[in-house]
Amino acid sequence: MTETPVLSVRDLKKHYPITKGILSRQGGVAKAVDGISFDIYPGETFGLVGESGCGKSTVAEAIVRLEEPTDGEIIVNPHGDSPENGTVDQKATTDAGWAAIDRLQSLIHRVPGIGRTASSADEADPRDVTQFDSQQLKAFRRDVQLLLQDSSTSFDPRMTVGAAISERLAIHGMAGRAQRRTIVEDLLERVGLSATDYDRFPHEFSGGQLQRIGLARALVLNPDLLIADEPVSALDVSVQAEILALLEDLQEEFDLSVLFISHDLSVVRQCCDRVGVMYLGQLVEQGKTEGVFTHPQHPYTEALVSSIPTPDPRDSLEEIELTGDVPSPENPPRGCRFHTRCHRIIQPEGVEIPQSEWRALRTLAIKIEQGRIDPDAVVASVVSMEPAPTAPTAVTPSQFDRQLRSEHDVPAPVSDPALEAALTDAIDALYDRDPERARSVLEALFRTPCITDDPDTVTVDDGHVSKCHLR
Ligand code: SF4
Repeated sequence: MTETPVLSVRDLKKHYPITKGILSRQGGVAKAVDGISFDIYPGETFGLVGESGCGKSTVAEAIVRLEEPTDGEIIVNPHGDSPENGTVDQKATTDAGWAAIDRLQSLIHRVPGIGRTASSADEADPRDVTQFDSQQLKAFRRDVQLLLQDSSTSFDPRMTVGAAISERLAIHGMAGRAQRRTIVEDLLERVGLSATDYDRFPHEFSGGQLQRIGLARALVLNPDLLIADEPVSALDVSVQAEILALLEDLQEEFDLSVLFISHDLSVVRQCCDRVGVMYLGQLVEQGKTEGVFTHPQHPYTEALVSSIPTPDPRDSLEEIELTGDVPSPENPPRGCRFHTRCHRIIQPEGVEIPQSEWRALRTLAIKIEQGRIDPDAVVASVVSMEPAPTAPTAVTPSQFDRQLRSEHDVPAPVSDPALEAALTDAIDALYDRDPERARSVLEALFRTPCITDDPDTVTVDDGHVSKCHLR
């Protein structure tokens, strides 16, 4: 794309310190967002998708600085105007552009540097939201609005919905009460409600109606960018479709760009132009929506796409079941963060065994390496399966080995002799209560790039990128 993005996120990080003990000493960091970059272009919907806890909502909060970013840049370009071209009047010519010139001029006035180019590459970019002072931030937050999952909790139950929407205009300097009312009534009609709903209270509306009111409130300041965080996931499917259709109409009418955050891939496929897939605080794939959904390049995306139900079962891909544990952002795995669950994890050089066998082997090896196998628990399992009472001390190494493999679906023997020898050695070491030896045996033989090296993000084709060694 040659257009200037409305918003450019560059290497954004949000780390949370983890404090421990009564003195609250810092004992590490949780890397909720760890170096992600993406652009949002004028009028487009960019989707952020991933499992719950992957950091996508933290990205939204960091953009509007409800959470202070730890590092990175968030570059804002009102209406996608580059600082040089100054095409500020374009949006004002649209039907909904009643406040645009005033608002943009205000933003330009308050944000030093918008409307001119930074004089030196060494200087902080004056359009960088992370550097804004409180006045600049207030102007920015007028331009970027949030729509949250559950609007019912974001309205004051003692305030009419009209007053709640109108309040935003008042806060941002629109003094005339009658004028505010006219604008809000008009907006309520635009979102499919009635002007007379102005004087009703939130409890009088259904979930879908409240989400429409939430949209009206988000749009009342005529923003450039709407950040919609799971906007339809609390709604019934039929209401979801109505709200998505409304969002699409309003996007065109208001000349809006949208950051659409969702765990629901079907919804993202339906309404997003481009999509970024997040895993454990990182963007692992990004591209045009159809390209990502029809030719997923990252194994994680591939697994997510395979789980989307289709109306015709004959069209369904075989669902890829992800095994292995979801790591914590406090302690992400080294190498590729997805390697603990990846069904395509690369095998060590010279090894060629069935991929499912390699995956099971890796999962057991990870547990051994992380000290998560309790030998006494394995012995206890063996004892509990014996028909006659058996003392734990009577459990033999081969019983121990059999039990551990069966608990992890690892065959005996493993197809590759060198791996089989290493695994047998490691299990024997565990039986001998020598976890260090077990770890070093496995580490020496189970190395692959997926485990040792963080993959680069590589371009697959036009704007389609993937962060995986498999290219
Ligand atoms: S780098 Fe390796 S572990 Fe990570 S996604 Fe690619 S194949 Fe899977």
